[in-house]
Amino acid sequence: MNLRRLADAEVAGKRVLLRTSLNVPLRADGTVADDFRLRRGLPTLEHLVRQGAKVIAVGYLGREGASLKPVADHLARLAPRIPLRFFGESPARAAEHTASLASGEVAVLENIRREAGEEANDPALAEVLASLADLFVDDAFAEAHRPYASNVGVAQLLPSYAGLLLEEEVARLSEALTPPPGAFAVVGGAKFETKQPVLRKLSTLYGRVAVGGALANDFLKARGLSVGASLVSDIPVPDDLAKSACLLLPTDVVVSSSRGGKRICRVDEIRSDETIVDNGPETSRAWSEEISKSSFVLWNGPLGVFEKDFTEGTDALASALSAASCRAAVGGGDTLAAIEKLSFEGDRVFRSTGGGAMLDFLAEGTLPALEPLRMPPL
Ligand code: ADP
Ligand code: MG
Repeated sequence: MNLRRLADAEVAGKRVLLRTSLNVPLRADGTVADDFRLRRGLPTLEHLVRQGAKVIAVGYLGREGASLKPVADHLARLAPRIPLRFFGESPARAAEHTASLASGEVAVLENIRREAGEEANDPALAEVLASLADLFVDDAFAEAHRPYASNVGVAQLLPSYAGLLLEEEVARLSEALTPPPGAFAVVGGAKFETKQPVLRKLSTLYGRVAVGGALANDFLKARGLSVGASLVSDIPVPDDLAKSACLLLPTDVVVSSSRGGKRICRVDEIRSDETIVDNGPETSRAWSEEISKSSFVLWNGPLGVFEKDFTEGTDALASALSAASCRAAVGGGDTLAAIEKLSFEGDRVFRSTGGGAMLDFLAEGTLPALEPLRMPPL
């Protein structure tokens, strides 16, 4: 996929609208709980500042109505040498402030989600954003699967470029779309209805596709097993997908019962009052073995109920990946949290900032926000 690259843009002295991913988990007191996405966005910010651009940074924060102030403060601490100010203004009111920006300065606008036109990709909001800048740089891969005014809309109105993170995400996930023979994919988490397209795609590209987490419940059920009181999706797994030859399902699981206990059992021994909460040890061993002999690993989604501390299956897979030597691409919030404690040499294991965006890119080979950044064919 050929995107216009930031490296090819003349930004010195120009007003640059930067769509960057500021969408981070916040603690109850509003401070930043995990700054992975902010750190991954720093190279683009630093590049723009070094080149003498006047940067107007726009971000979307998922928590309804929340202010970006604590996120901007955190970003300022991560990059103490960058002159960064939080303007706390809507785009319509920002012009009077951004007009006075000097080269190499950064102004962060308020959460663009507060604008009614953002999620509707309202052309009027896109016009206002475009009026603030000479060119547009999109670095927010994590939200590139949503066609909003601050990515798709404004990119259609200004000369637009992919930021360094966006470019790297597309390159590394494109690698995952052309895996070598002997590659292994693992998909966990929940919501089969949203993951069906990516599972279908991966089953055509990968020799082995392991399905874990709550998704596995749907597949076990489709194969006629009783999953007790486990979380299942509203839509059934189509027969051909459930019977796909590349599929790997858990053979044993951790279950918790409504009476409070937990135990490990085979997947054909689940009682009606029991809930699957994690992979069992036999499954962890088998999947780890699979990783050790794989040429490439793709992984998105936790294999157990992470929030309730059922992390063993996910941790086991993370350790196997750390012990392996193959290249890999990993994404999804809980999945990254599991591999955070481990170290990986060089750039062998790519950590995507996208959860949903990663899955959509893998399913479709593109994303709405990437389309306006494409280079015209020669
Ligand atoms: P992510 O948020 O990482 O993108 P998802 O939203 O698809 O991934 O899924 C994460 C959720 O899946 C977590 O809330 C986790 O508790 C849940 N989950 C994983 N395994 C199970 C399971 N066996 N039963 C119920 N929920 C599960
Ligand atoms: Mg989720």
